[in-house]
Amino acid sequence: MVFKHFRLVQRNKEFFTLKMGSNIGKIKELQYLVSYWLLLFTPFIRKLHLKDTYRHKGLRKKLVDSLRRRGIDNESVLGAIAYLPRHFFLDKAFEEHAYEDKAFPIGNKQTISQPYTVAFQTDMLQVKKRDRVLEIGTGSGYQAAILSLLGARVFTIERQEDLYKKTRNLLDTLGFDRIRMYYKDGFKGVPEFAPFDGIIVTAGASTIPQALFEQLKVGGRLVIPYGEQDAKKMLCITKDEDGEPQILEEGPLFKFVPFLEGVNASKD
Ligand code: SAH
Repeated sequence: MVFKHFRLVQRNKEFFTLKMGSNIGKIKELQYLVSYWLLLFTPFIRKLHLKDTYRHKGLRKKLVDSLRRRGIDNESVLGAIAYLPRHFFLDKAFEEHAYEDKAFPIGNKQTISQPYTVAFQTDMLQVKKRDRVLEIGTGSGYQAAILSLLGARVFTIERQEDLYKKTRNLLDTLGFDRIRMYYKDGFKGVPEFAPFDGIIVTAGASTIPQALFEQLKVGGRLVIPYGEQDAKKMLCITKDEDGEPQILEEGPLFKFVPFLEGVNASKD
């Protein structure tokens, strides 16, 4: 897996070899040596927990097997889950539990979705390469990264400024810098990049915002956990030729944090 800091190290290695080959004095050589080692190790020191071991890979494989047993049979989605280290998206304290099929806190009273939910929603969305996909509720960035691995052009909105900043940082570090992230109210969508082939709402909705439906392509898919009660029904809604909503599929009930209007700015 090519992560950004890894690429940085690679680039500096080449730079170093080039410079060492040319005719430079001893002091200059030493200077390069020091800056090379600093550049080489700083990203690792800061991101020590971004290590993906054989153990993690094994746990991921088990997780994928359990998703298969629960009826997920979309091989591209399962492949992306098997590939992406979920523990990178969780606080160090939860690392041991990253491959359990559970939701976990990510700060600001929000949660990373359960892997089964991610798999179910992503499968419902039927992502094709280069599809324009809008996600509402960036949270940890895990779902956005899965969509990106499937080849979608991802736009994602988060209403919590703290989470937005933290996740922007993480996604950039991991090399997912093509994902376009917005700190704003997801009820409004991103009209400047509409229409979208797919829209996925990862918070529990008790209303379907008109703006989101307007930003869906004719024949596109809006995947949204919807309902008046706490548990929400997973719906896949499309837009027909007359611009009218049609329910394509109905899934089971899921639990989500609420889809709230407005934004929540950082306290600092
Ligand atoms: N997709 C996320 C799941 C995060 S939980 C992941 O993979 O980790 C849902 C997220 O939706 C929360 O971070 C919450 O702050 C966000 N959210 C809720 N209402 C929102 C809104 N109106 N606009 C944008 N984000 C919203």
